[in-house]
Amino acid sequence: MSEAARPTRVLVLNSGSSSVKYQLLDMADQSRLASGVVERIGEKGDAGREGGDDGVADHAAALRRVAGELAGRGLGLDSPELAAVGHRVVHGGTRFTGPTLITDEVVAGIEELVPLAPLHNPANITGIKVARELRPDLPQVAVFDTAFHATIPEAAARYAIDTATADRHGIRRYGFHGTSNAYVSRAAAALLGREPSEVNLIVLHLGNGASATAVRGGVSVDTSMGLTPLEGLVMGTRSGDVDPAVVFHLARVGGMGTDEIDTLLNKRSGLLGLGGVNDMREIGRRMAEGDERAQLAFDVYVHRLRRYVGAFTAVLGRVDAVVFTAGVGENSAAVRAAALAGLDGLGIVVDPVRNAVRGSAGRLVSAESSRVAVAVVPTDEELEIARDTYALARG
Ligand code: AMP
Repeated sequence: MSEAARPTRVLVLNSGSSSVKYQLLDMADQSRLASGVVERIGEKGDAGREGGDDGVADHAAALRRVAGELAGRGLGLDSPELAAVGHRVVHGGTRFTGPTLITDEVVAGIEELVPLAPLHNPANITGIKVARELRPDLPQVAVFDTAFHATIPEAAARYAIDTATADRHGIRRYGFHGTSNAYVSRAAAALLGREPSEVNLIVLHLGNGASATAVRGGVSVDTSMGLTPLEGLVMGTRSGDVDPAVVFHLARVGGMGTDEIDTLLNKRSGLLGLGGVNDMREIGRRMAEGDERAQLAFDVYVHRLRRYVGAFTAVLGRVDAVVFTAGVGENSAAVRAAALAGLDGLGIVVDPVRNAVRGSAGRLVSAESSRVAVAVVPTDEELEIARDTYALARG
């Protein structure tokens, strides 16, 4: 096929446990042709009601709905302009350290990693299988959320537990939000007018899930999430760091079972557990009304962030920028200001006026006097997945 006639569109699929998000991008100009989400998978509405927001039976039905929505806009999966499908896959273990062209063997490899990500990888695999059935002729690429962190040195990746036991069970720090970190650290370097290889960054991805990552010269050298996305920062519903003995105590003294504790720490903790709601906007509203629980949730959230900024400053030795991204990081001036308040000793000074300005573009919010830049950089995981997918599919 001549260069001009080569297909340039990439469909990005993010198959979660109860939803499938999709975006169709044209890599000729990186434009977004369509995007959407099918939610409530497995909650098929009663009496087979038809309707846009009705639940769907399973991932196969969800992907058929995605295909139907795209076809309705003249962008069907059968289009010859579609070059490839890119799949977000949460856990790549130590085996998948970069974007990978999907084969039967790769699917089997992702299946073997299910014990490390029992909630996420099965949904990702189903998405891959259904998409391959729909277009078996198309290149399909897996982009792993862990891959960016494959560079973390052993000193930071190892937990100090018996090595044989750890190795037998694959216990180590893998890290997540890798796709976001890859995109954001390149965009942050561009904002600073430097090459990624020249800058040291602390990337704070603060969404419903939240993580801090130390990026040295474009490469991850430490991150707050660990074996699973539970470790590290306070999140919407996850506790982040706790003394591991909390688990034994809840089992022995609290009489709780393993699944119950898992649910407590992953689904009923964080902002929700402390403040009664998982959304930072609502925490802010309640704080303004004098709600003490919401204030405590905010204070714990911000304190944990400062701890990681301090720790990763020491890990990196020299920091060029602290970079905020994702829902909270991009939108909450209050979190940014509070997390970095009083850190002028580390060379970090936020400018209150710049910080208060809202915007959708990457921007600096640090004071002129700040040795370390403070940046807000909107993340774009779908574009990053599409770029990786397109690069691999073109060969
Ligand atoms: P994400 O996972 O990146 O989509 O981020 C979702 C979270 O971002 C939500 O749960 C909110 O807590 C938070 N968020 C979104 N918009 C705002 C805002 N304007 N102010 C504070 N937090 C926000």
